[in-house]
Amino acid sequence: MPAKIYQEKNCIENHAEEILSFGKRALIMTGGHSAQMNGSLRKVQEVIVGGGGSFAVFHEVEENPSVQTIMKAAAFGKSMKVDMVIGIGGGSPMDAAKAAALMLAHPNKKWDYMYEKDADSSRLPLVLIPTTCGTGSEATGVSVLTRHDKGTKGAIPHRIYADLSLIDPGYLKSAPLQLLRNTAIDALAHMYESYLNTTATDYSRMCVDKGLEIWAKSLEVLRGEREAADEDFENMMTASAMAGMAICLTGTTIPHTLSYRLTYNLHMPHGKAVGYFLPGYLAEADPKDAAHLLKLSGFESVKDLAEFYEAVCGREEISGELADQIAEDVLSRTEKIALCPYTLDKEVLHRIIKG
Ligand code: NAP
Ligand code: ZN
Repeated sequence: MPAKIYQEKNCIENHAEEILSFGKRALIMTGGHSAQMNGSLRKVQEVIVGGGGSFAVFHEVEENPSVQTIMKAAAFGKSMKVDMVIGIGGGSPMDAAKAAALMLAHPNKKWDYMYEKDADSSRLPLVLIPTTCGTGSEATGVSVLTRHDKGTKGAIPHRIYADLSLIDPGYLKSAPLQLLRNTAIDALAHMYESYLNTTATDYSRMCVDKGLEIWAKSLEVLRGEREAADEDFENMMTASAMAGMAICLTGTTIPHTLSYRLTYNLHMPHGKAVGYFLPGYLAEADPKDAAHLLKLSGFESVKDLAEFYEAVCGREEISGELADQIAEDVLSRTEKIALCPYTLDKEVLHRIIKG
């Protein structure tokens, strides 16, 4: 896992020198509000100015960022003559920062360069600062972008890791409970999908086993049974980063592939969309493996997991037409089917979708 990651209180100021070592003029990429509100943007700006550098802020990264947004950010960065990129926020600004860092290093290429397989993935230096507890993008090389021309989203083939990822759990304090729930369920999905995966290794399963144990410590917070304490924010961030390390080694599988059109068509947040398929994915797995994962994450059974999901996210029925469409999506992705540890035909897929 090539990204260098630190996690601690005051993480940004503690690693000011390392941030400054990457360049003199940074393109900072954020969403519309949260990075301003929780103080992370101001902290990065102070560190850069304090070290004699300068920055330009692109704060137009939308949730599930599109290819068009990346091109707009890259054009802005080029006009500002930036020499490094910093992404602050949830998975959306972090994934967008990865793709913009790629395009800024290839300024004469058009948008489709992002989708060119086996092409040069060199990029501007990249620093990532997560403020949600789900995607693990600070650890992975994956950048997931929305393709409006195809009506869905998916990972670009380039693998782009942060040079430096700075995790300060304090920035999670401003997150509403529903955001904690959605993103923690994303981390849970990363761990389940990494474990129930044909490419799982002792190393990836080590990250899952420990990550789930840490994840489960804040289950009461997610259930709404108690307020989150500092320790919970730390645990949620650790579990999310460990889950990221696990999928770094294995990739995600069926629930993620099924989720993308749900997010695109129904505007369902990413974590909620992947969580929709987790009970079904576990129900089809080797019962011993499923029992191991459920126990570590604090659930008694698949039914208990399904009830938890329904209680904290609300389960929406999806139409038969959409179910057929997402099943077709998966059946055309042979590389994803190859990662599933059990035989996956149309019938099994529909059982997973039904939950
Ligand atoms: P997100 O789309 O980055 O952010 C969701 C919302 O949370 C935004 O409205 C954002 O506001 C807000 N927010 C972020 N941090 C906050 C905080 N600390 N306090 C209050 N509000 C905050 O959500 P996400 O679930 O983290 O990321 C989802 C994206 O990541 C999807 O595109 C998904 O496909 C991708 N993903 C990537 C990987 C990977 O390995 N790279 C893995 C899984 C998922 P602002 O817009 O104002 O910032
Ligand atoms: Zn995910």
